[in-house]
Amino acid sequence: MYDLTIIGGGPAGTSVAVYAARKRLKSVLITQEWGGQSNVSEDVQNWIGIPHISGTDLGKAFEAHVREYSEDVVDIVSPAKVTKVERIDQDGQQSFKVTTEKGETYESKAVFLGVGSARRKLPAKGADTFEHKGLTYCATCDGPLFSGRDVVVIGGGNAGFETAAQLLAYARSVTLLEFNEKFLADEVTVEKLTKNENFKAIPNVEIVEVTGEAFVSGITYKSRENGEETKLPTGGVFVEIGMIPNTDMVKDLVELTERNQIKVDPYTQRTSIEGVWAAGDATDGRYHQNNIASGDAVKAIEDMYGFIR
Ligand SMILES: Cc1cc2nc3c(=O)[nH]c(=O)nc-3n(C[C@H](O)[C@H](O)[C@H](O)COP(=O)(O)OP(=O)(O)OC[C@H]3O[C@@H](n4cnc5c(N)ncnc54)[C@H](O)[C@@H]3O)c2cc1C
Repeated sequence: MYDLTIIGGGPAGTSVAVYAARKRLKSVLITQEWGGQSNVSEDVQNWIGIPHISGTDLGKAFEAHVREYSEDVVDIVSPAKVTKVERIDQDGQQSFKVTTEKGETYESKAVFLGVGSARRKLPAKGADTFEHKGLTYCATCDGPLFSGRDVVVIGGGNAGFETAAQLLAYARSVTLLEFNEKFLADEVTVEKLTKNENFKAIPNVEIVEVTGEAFVSGITYKSRENGEETKLPTGGVFVEIGMIPNTDMVKDLVELTERNQIKVDPYTQRTSIEGVWAAGDATDGRYHQNNIASGDAVKAIEDMYGFIR
């Protein structure tokens, strides 16, 4: 019986593992890979203390940091995919059983979920080809690289409008394209942004193709009303059409939002089930970044320590 099972090798999971090792909590960390979502980034520029690091080097640094302290305290199971987390009640004693794809099981007093999420990919021709070549899924990470350009944001929810607001600080112009007839963002946000003369928002359109040569240079969209196609030259495409949290394995255990994010108490990072904590992109936290995932995870382990001990 472990004290703690940590699921995830991104900033949330590895932060918990480093603290758990130093607190001598007998733990097991299970992850599919190290580094998490920013693994695909060529240059992460806002991991505090390191001005430039590639996503893969960040992943290696996470693994090395955990192994530095793991000794006989934190067992590492990688690569492995967790498929289910269950609560067990035996003689009034609660524990958790974590099962992997290969059928291995791990039992612990507490569980930490640092399972992250995946960005919903743009379903349009050329979107895969131009990913990291002018098409990006993270404005906070890559926005400043597009300074002075005419850029496009895809998605008219709050995330899309917030991305557009951020980009207006450096881009020459921002055009936002939305699939639905109406923007899903808060009315006040839409109203505020549409007053900016460098901003234009177009609803009820479908993205047909992302075009370019070595780098993105245009986008073609189609009116959903009359089918008319428009080719828009652009120096960058920011996609904000939602996230898919990796929360399948706990869908029968903890409370999730309608978007399948784990509901947490932001004061402690506790989930709806005693003994289960979560942090990072899999949660319903308002903002998602590496530093936030790590900081919230540290909050969680401080809270877990009291529970376990
Ligand atoms: C393209 C891109 C670029 C980004 N660039 C930046 C940036 O420059 N700066 C920044 O601060 N943020 C950036 N972000 C956001 C940042 O990556 C996330 O906020 C951060 O990774 C969230 O950390 P996390 O630990 O919650 O989850 P993740 O990083 O998603 O890690 C989840 C971990 O859980 C593991 N896992 C998932 N499911 C299972 C399972 N079933 N079984 C076992 N293991 C599992 C995964 O293998 C992974 O190790 C970027 C995001 C994207 C998509």
